[in-house]
Amino acid sequence: MRVGVLALQGDFAAHAVAFREFGVQVVEVRRTRELDGLDALVIPGGESTTLLNLMADEPWFERLREFHRCGGSLLGTCAGAILLAREVTGPAQAGLGLIDVTVERNAFGRQIDSFETDLDWDGDDEPLPAVFIRAPRFRRTGPGVEVLAKLEDEPVLVRQGRVTAGTFHPELTADRRLQRRFLESIAGRTTPEGVQTPRLEAAADPGGAQRRVTC
Ligand code: GLN
Repeated sequence: MRVGVLALQGDFAAHAVAFREFGVQVVEVRRTRELDGLDALVIPGGESTTLLNLMADEPWFERLREFHRCGGSLLGTCAGAILLAREVTGPAQAGLGLIDVTVERNAFGRQIDSFETDLDWDGDDEPLPAVFIRAPRFRRTGPGVEVLAKLEDEPVLVRQGRVTAGTFHPELTADRRLQRRFLESIAGRTTPEGVQTPRLEAAADPGGAQRRVTC
């Protein structure tokens, strides 16, 4: 299994360390072509506006949506969750729309903008320790979105199909149950070659301007 960690900015190194503990191959991804052959991509916490700026030099949104469409799994934490969302507020900015949530940035307020707590989650009875740093909040979750963990009745870890998003930093604690669960969720789907990489081919329109994805 090959897991990529988007390494443009933010807390990617800690995510890589956490996933390497499982013996899976972990690669840092800085170019869209490095998505090829990955089974999963982790989008780390950091600063989502900075990430968006750094993504401007390549068609990242297009390639990440193809990666998802062609079978790739995604885990976004904090700024990564903001990037995956269908709608972003506080202020509004672009989201990949890969999970049907509305997320509000920096929504815990300044006075408690960073804190550590234990979460109720559906993994097992043992609470999950979680670090929140200038964290966003899920303000709406669509009907197809499962809530995996809550903080005081509010969703903080959600999943829709192959996309998991959390508003906290699981990589900053020693607990690896969340990563284990994410890997287990993709293990059944993985082929020895990994996810088939998406390819863009010119559609049969005159001029070939329209392109379609093949996997
Ligand atoms: N506040 C950041 C943002 O809006 C997210 C913080 C984080 O990833 N720890 O992108």
